[in-house]
Amino acid sequence: MAQNERLVIIGSGPAGYTAALYAARASLNPLLVEGLQPGGQLTITSEVENYPGFPEAILGPQLMDQMRKQGERFGTRFEAGEVTRVDLSRRPFQLWIDDKLVRAQAVIVATGASAKWLGLPSEKQYQGRGVSACATCDGFFFKGVEVAVVGGGDTAMEEATFLTKFATRVHVIHRRDALRASKIMAERARTNPKIQLQLSSTVDEILGDGKAVTGVRLCSAVDGKMRELPVKGVFMGIGHEPNTALFKGQLEMNEVGYLKIKHPTTATSVRGVFAAGDVADPSYRQAVTAAGSGCQAAIDAERFLGEHATEIWD
Ligand code: FAD
Ligand code: NAP
Repeated sequence: MAQNERLVIIGSGPAGYTAALYAARASLNPLLVEGLQPGGQLTITSEVENYPGFPEAILGPQLMDQMRKQGERFGTRFEAGEVTRVDLSRRPFQLWIDDKLVRAQAVIVATGASAKWLGLPSEKQYQGRGVSACATCDGFFFKGVEVAVVGGGDTAMEEATFLTKFATRVHVIHRRDALRASKIMAERARTNPKIQLQLSSTVDEILGDGKAVTGVRLCSAVDGKMRELPVKGVFMGIGHEPNTALFKGQLEMNEVGYLKIKHPTTATSVRGVFAAGDVADPSYRQAVTAAGSGCQAAIDAERFLGEHATEIWD
């Protein structure tokens, strides 16, 4: 027997938790599926300085914990597990949480984004042995050694600044001569004496002794010359890609996989399915914008369910 639900929210980042808060307060009795990263991307960062309401900053995991509690207070049901398959071809929609079939009258997709990798075989070989995509998680292991961070955006600047707590020197390797990061983050990195910018450089290879990383070989984007840096850790900070593989062929996406929504609403190409947060946002990708669109998605879902009050389950 399938489990029947009015509204299923997929994802437990700022978008999913905020959608749950609004949906629960609107008496929609939402079920939120947490996925493999309960709390989402902010659980792997340290201080969040730009979420309104916290003038002294707040730790990412703490912020997410508070958001969860707020949704819980109004009756959100949380389910650990991953949505492994969906059938959105007709209502009620069908979703499989791991192996369990759940049917839903409306769905909010808030599956966020995941870290991108360079795609080098050596990067894969040394993952967990010096190669990481999370400085907050692994920085501690690099006390007193040199490390590198790849990327020129806010994530790379933040990771580099954080790593200076442990490493003797942090090389920021960026493929262009200009950083993409916001002014304040770039300035913070530039003025940190432990950070050395390696601009117009790409990673040609991650070097190792078979057991651990021993360095990185860079290729100059200007003259193609190679050089090596003696680092023990390499952190990827080259951005994220939307978690939308599950919806391929079912929901419309842009050319790089972000879900298309019908602005100014959060409606996707399937009536009754809404999207919020990074999964549908190639341009802002902030906690506060994710939370804002989670609120919009819950209100859109509430209106949709109000207009389609008859709940036909067969
Ligand atoms: P996410 O936070 O990505 O959450 C996605 C959720 O979906 C996760 O819970 C995951 O488990 C779940 N999920 C995925 N697939 C499935 C599935 N198949 N089934 C069930 N669940 C699934 N923004 C700021 O505003 N300020 C900052 O200081 C800041 N710092 C950052 C630091 C780092 C290191 C990173 C990586 C990002 C940072 N950001 C910051 C960006 C911010 O974290 C994101 O914009 C925000 O988390 C996006 O929220 P979201 O809810 O859309 O998705
Ligand atoms: P991003 O802004 O997309 O930056 C990615 C960086 O990686 C760019 O500099 C890009 O180079 C580089 N890059 C991408 N693919 C590469 C490849 N294959 N090889 C080498 N370099 C590559 O991503 P982000 O830094 O993760 O930030 C994402 C969003 O989260 C942004 O909106 C950001 O503001 C937000 N965020 C905010 C904070 C904060 O406010 N504290 C912290 C982290 C993230 P190019 O520049 O050449 O494209």
